[in-house]
Amino acid sequence: MTIDIEALTKGNSRALAKAITLVESKKVEHRAQAQELLESVLPQTGNSIRIGITGIPGVGKSTFIEAFGLYLVSQGKRVAVLAVDPSSPIAGGSILGDKTRMEMLSRSSDAFIRPSPSEGSLGGVALKTRETMLLCEAAGYDVILVETVGVGQSEYEVASMVDFFMVLMLPNAGDELQGIKKGIMELADALVINKADGESINLATQTRRHYQSALHLLRHSSFWTPQVMTCSAIKNENIEAVWGMISDFQVDATKNGALAGKRARQAKEWMNKLLHEMLDIKLKENPSVKALLPELNRKVTDGQTTPFLAAQKLINLLFEDA
Ligand code: GDP
Repeated sequence: MTIDIEALTKGNSRALAKAITLVESKKVEHRAQAQELLESVLPQTGNSIRIGITGIPGVGKSTFIEAFGLYLVSQGKRVAVLAVDPSSPIAGGSILGDKTRMEMLSRSSDAFIRPSPSEGSLGGVALKTRETMLLCEAAGYDVILVETVGVGQSEYEVASMVDFFMVLMLPNAGDELQGIKKGIMELADALVINKADGESINLATQTRRHYQSALHLLRHSSFWTPQVMTCSAIKNENIEAVWGMISDFQVDATKNGALAGKRARQAKEWMNKLLHEMLDIKLKENPSVKALLPELNRKVTDGQTTPFLAAQKLINLLFEDA
């Protein structure tokens, strides 16, 4: 595959799409080429604000992203929308990042929308999304929106790759009712209560107060105190305020170094995760390990050897062969 790097860094969306296809490819030679490409564009990356958006199905994610994205475009920004599909099989194929869900935004020449790859190998679909994010930055996108739905591990994965993590909520009290996991609330930089319109306005305000007092107890360790806001994606209300909040965060976090620190931490954690996955693959593929594994499995279950000794033997085999 030939990728026109110059066209890519000039923001040509066809070159970008092709580069993403390369990154998503499972062919071994493509993988190597993709890494080379990523390394060469690395100096041009990192200049966007990376925003994660999650929420249960029906909360209004695509309506919000459409309104938010169009607002950003009207402000002269270039916006990329990427999706991390839940790894869970219940969710099936790509339900996010579907262009038909953000019809107007997808027609804008300043927006780029890409669904999750249908499957990932090493690092799962999240690896592809991380790499795609870098390509979008190299192509000059100022705002990257990473969308996910609250199933399985996907929210944690998204939170670990973005600068700002936002949970969209419904105007009714209680996160238990909304199926939002406690751990997710703790990762949120903002809770945005959508559908604050019509008969739901009062309820949305009540819900905002409820979370505002709760978040007070859950104060973040960094300089940022999580914010709680209401908006109506469908009526385009308070969308500008949501951007105002994120843009304040970006300015402050850049100034005080928190943003660079967070990204450095994320990159290190990601490397660690990949290292473990790579080791795991090497272990599973190693012929000596494969040959001995059934016997050791039996011995461990029969109580003839300890799990520790069996694991040690397998690891030693791996390094002997290497
Ligand atoms: P997603 O599954 O989270 O992407 O949710 P959608 O964006 O598809 O929205 C689900 C439903 O909620 C749709 O019928 C939308 O029209 C509606 N919806 C989205 N945002 C709002 C809003 O701000 N107010 C109201 N009243 N309805 C909304």
